[in-house]
Amino acid sequence: MSTVDTTALDMPPWHTPAWAHMAHAIAADRVAHGLLVCGPPGIGKRVFADRIVAALLCRERDAQGDACGRCAACRQRIAGTHPDISRLVPEEPGKLIKVDQVRAFSQRLHLTPQYDSGRIGWIDPAEDLSPSAANSLLKTLEEPPPACHIVLVTDRVSALMPTVRSRCQLWRLTPPTPTQATEWLTANGMDPAGLDADSLRTPFAALARDSQDYSALVDGWDRTLSDVIRNREDAASAAERLAREPADLLTDWLYRRASALLAQSLAAADEPQGEAGSVLPAHLARVATRMDPYAFEPWCAGVVESARLARSNADWQLVLESLLLDLKRCLKRKSS
Ligand SMILES: [Zn+2]
Repeated sequence: MSTVDTTALDMPPWHTPAWAHMAHAIAADRVAHGLLVCGPPGIGKRVFADRIVAALLCRERDAQGDACGRCAACRQRIAGTHPDISRLVPEEPGKLIKVDQVRAFSQRLHLTPQYDSGRIGWIDPAEDLSPSAANSLLKTLEEPPPACHIVLVTDRVSALMPTVRSRCQLWRLTPPTPTQATEWLTANGMDPAGLDADSLRTPFAALARDSQDYSALVDGWDRTLSDVIRNREDAASAAERLAREPADLLTDWLYRRASALLAQSLAAADEPQGEAGSVLPAHLARVATRMDPYAFEPWCAGVVESARLARSNADWQLVLESLLLDLKRCLKRKSS
C-alpha cells in the first residue's frame, strides 16, 4: 500500500526466519539471480524485497546482513538515484506490464553497472506481466547478465506463468501471529485495539488504512458512493473520478464497504448503527437500511469480480460505472 512510508518502520519480526536465510545467502554470495517474494497481501513483502535490494547493493553491511544506510551506494539508493536499479512496473496502477516495457528493462539490465555489486531489476506486481511480457522476460531470467539480480514481488504466485515461477527462487513470507502483529503495530505508532483477526493477519494494510492520507481518500469515496445512491451525482461522472484513484486501495475499500453495507441491510432496518456499531459512516449506514439484502448480495459478488477486472485489460471506468448503476438498482427494488 502506497500511503505509508515503509522506510521508517521497524523490521517485522515475522520476516526474521526468512531474513536469516537470505542474509546467510548474501554473505556467502550465493543469492539466486531470480528472487520471487510471494505471500498474501498486507504482510510487508515489498519491505522484505527492499531489504534484499539494499543489502545486495551496500558496501558495508551490518552484523544482521542489513544495509548500513550510510555508504555511497546506500545514500544513492535512499535518495532514489542509484544508477544500477531498474524498475518494471505497470505504466498505470492496475494495468498490465507490456512486452515493450520488458524489452527496455532487459536492455537496461545488460548495461555495465556503475558499482561492482551488479545491476538490480525490480518487478512489481509480477502477476501483472501480460503473457507476452512474461514470455519476453524468460530469456533474461534464464541467462541474466553477470552479478545481476531480479527481484519479483507478487500477492498471487498462482497467477504467474509456471515458466516464470520455475526460473526463480521462491521466498514465501507468511502472515504474523496475532501477538507479533499487535506488538509491531504498537511499536509503529498504531493502536491495534479493536482490530479483527483479518486485520491482524495483514498489519501493513491495517497501518495504511490508519494513515491520514487514506482517511481523506475514504471520506471522499464514501461521499461519492452515497451521492450516487441518492441521485446527487450520476454514475458516469463518479466512475470517471474513481477510476483515477489507486485501484488496489479502491478495490479494498469497495470490498469492505460491500460487506458492511450488506451486514447493515440485514440488520434491523430501523436501527441504523452509524459509526459506533459498524465501520460505516452515518450517511452510508442510513442508505444501507434502504437496501434490499436479496438484491444486494449479488452486487457484493460483483465487487469481488471487479477486483479481478481491475487487474485485467477491462475498461476500469466502465466496470466502476456498471457497479454504481447496479448499486442504485438494489435500492429501487426495495422502495417499489
Ligand atoms: Zn551501505
